[in-house]
Amino acid sequence: MIVDPEIENKEIAKQYKELLRISYQNLSTSDKKMIRLAFDTAVEAHGDQRRKSGEAYIFHPISVAKIVAQQIGLDATSISAALLHDVVEDTKYSLQDIERLMGNTVAKIVNGLTKISKLKKDKNISLQAENFRKMLLTLNDDVRVIIIKIADRLHNMQTMDAMPEYKQVKIASETLFIYAPLAHRIGLYNVKNELEDLSLKYTEPERYKSIKDKVEQTKEAQETYIKTFSKFLSQELSKERLKYIIKGRSKSIYSIHKKMQIQNIPFEKVYDKFAIRVVYEGSKNKEKFLAWKIYSIVTDHFTPNPTRLRDWISAPKSTGYEALHITVMGPLNKWVEIQIRSNRMHEIAEKGYAAHYKYKQVDRKEIGIESWLNRLQEVLENNTGNAVDFVEEFKLNLYAEEIFVFTPKGDLKSLPQGATALDFAFAIHTDIGKKTRGIQVNDKLVPLSRVLKSGDQIDVITSENIKPSKNWLDFVVTSRARSIIKSSLNEEKKERADEGKEILRRKLKQLKIKSNEKTINQMLLFFKFQNNQDLYYRVAIGSLDNKQLKQFASKYHNSLLNFFNKRIRSKSPFIKKEDNVVTPKFNKLVFGKEKELLTYTFATCCKPIPGDSVFGFITVNEGIKIHHKECPNALSLQSNFAYRILKSKWIDSSSEEYTAILKLTGIDEKGLVNEVTKMISNNLNIYINKINFDSDDHFFTGIIHLSVPNKNILNKLVQNLSKLKGIDKIVRE
Ligand code: MN
Repeated sequence: MIVDPEIENKEIAKQYKELLRISYQNLSTSDKKMIRLAFDTAVEAHGDQRRKSGEAYIFHPISVAKIVAQQIGLDATSISAALLHDVVEDTKYSLQDIERLMGNTVAKIVNGLTKISKLKKDKNISLQAENFRKMLLTLNDDVRVIIIKIADRLHNMQTMDAMPEYKQVKIASETLFIYAPLAHRIGLYNVKNELEDLSLKYTEPERYKSIKDKVEQTKEAQETYIKTFSKFLSQELSKERLKYIIKGRSKSIYSIHKKMQIQNIPFEKVYDKFAIRVVYEGSKNKEKFLAWKIYSIVTDHFTPNPTRLRDWISAPKSTGYEALHITVMGPLNKWVEIQIRSNRMHEIAEKGYAAHYKYKQVDRKEIGIESWLNRLQEVLENNTGNAVDFVEEFKLNLYAEEIFVFTPKGDLKSLPQGATALDFAFAIHTDIGKKTRGIQVNDKLVPLSRVLKSGDQIDVITSENIKPSKNWLDFVVTSRARSIIKSSLNEEKKERADEGKEILRRKLKQLKIKSNEKTINQMLLFFKFQNNQDLYYRVAIGSLDNKQLKQFASKYHNSLLNFFNKRIRSKSPFIKKEDNVVTPKFNKLVFGKEKELLTYTFATCCKPIPGDSVFGFITVNEGIKIHHKECPNALSLQSNFAYRILKSKWIDSSSEEYTAILKLTGIDEKGLVNEVTKMISNNLNIYINKINFDSDDHFFTGIIHLSVPNKNILNKLVQNLSKLKGIDKIVRE
């Protein structure tokens, strides 16, 4: 590519002027000075670097700054940081240089952006999900870092043609997977749509083109339709002296694609390909009143569908979105969505974050983004688990529709659709969640797993004696609650394991076995546990009992040492099961929350083995395939076919808690009931779920529902209970 430097310089100068002209925020003289300095520095720093397409590199930061200035509408500080976003990473300029020239704030934002781009180049971290987590961790407290990063990604997506195809697909999937949901959550709806459409263009080019062409073809019909619609309303709207614009709003190519895919329908059957927007002028104190006035005019002419009324004015989305949405039976008997918004609401919907700040002083409703970012930070800090798990959960939260509920004092809280009463407790405060004993919804005590509805009023009852329990994970849906529960369970497991370690040491001593690392390793092999903690924990809760330890001891003393040593060296798993003491760890693969058993085969790309973290993928012809979570294909499957992913995990069927029902009969001795319950509750590993005693003329029947970790413990309990005076018979139901 031959470039005339003079023409190029002229173009750079032209672009710069345009950047200042299109800024959404009013720029003061000192703002312009700062941007000029950032621009000069960037030009100087990037020198004659060029992009793959051949054009001067500086065009890229200018374009990113333009997106930031116009489309997103951020301030001069952000525009300057956008101009400098690649300087520290790609040129000889250091962060100190930037700080000296531009000051603290710009330097801090550039630093965040540099950290993110460094991650990509770190060869040791191959997993995108882990990158994502780290990226969010670099957010610190400046949301501008992530917004500029999104703008950077948008421009890269707009100019991807010069890249090799495999890179295009990779970048596009990553965009769909991470950046589009983030943009959505921050309220940058237009940016999100553009990112998704561009991603589709590269991941499924034919599909993209065919939908795009069809959308073009239907444009004219759509415009006629909107005109017809407007005609019905204009007279009356004008009579009310309302100033307004009626516009059509097409669904994005990607959303049409999604709808076709999910509902398995052709393009022609997607009926809500566009919505109609009524944007009206009105002062802040009258805008709600006007919205309902327009609503009433519209519904005078067209029948509304009452199930599809959305009042985001009384309760804005947590992204800050406000509008009144209705769906009516419009001209030609077609259902059409009408979005009613004031100018102010429209601006917020278009510009998102930046517009909030402009209007903030007028009415400071909780914006939500800051508190969301705080939450996010907390979740990230608490998270200890697998990165893919984390991203999956996190994405669920990004896209989930919201419900609105109330605290006892009447404060409004927003939670994702499907959130339970316990999620609410964790949303209020970590400590409240952890200590939740009961929850009242609308003054009635409900199970912690109760799914909440918009409008519910919720009161959490706490108790100092309560600790998070494992079954809570079966129903909470927010990543915040999950991660807090998981980390406190881990802590507790660790504590129990410490106890178990001491118990085991004593028991081994009694069995005359030296307790050292070698012995522990032999035990891990013998019992098929994954790590020491597991072993100690089982000892502590009694699921590894004396009988089993004796069996180990006899092998140990029978100088099977050589045998074990050989096993350890060859690392081959312990297969032969000569007696029933060996508890294989991961012997059952289950799917979904309900732990369903389904038929499956293993994927050949990553060949997972029992015990690995895995997920199921529904293939077109070959049923469910099990992939390793770290499989090289995992992310692309997850980003492109999220709806075909099945959660699955390996469990140890022998350690599952199971419920048992005991039926006791006997003579009604004084205090017997008391003694029975005391005996059961003194046993640390058994929980009473329900208990019922009936007595009839000195003859009593008792029915007790229990949770027990294994059969041995249950048998022991039955033995002890039958020794009590008065008990005649105990049967398991
Ligand atoms: Mn860049």
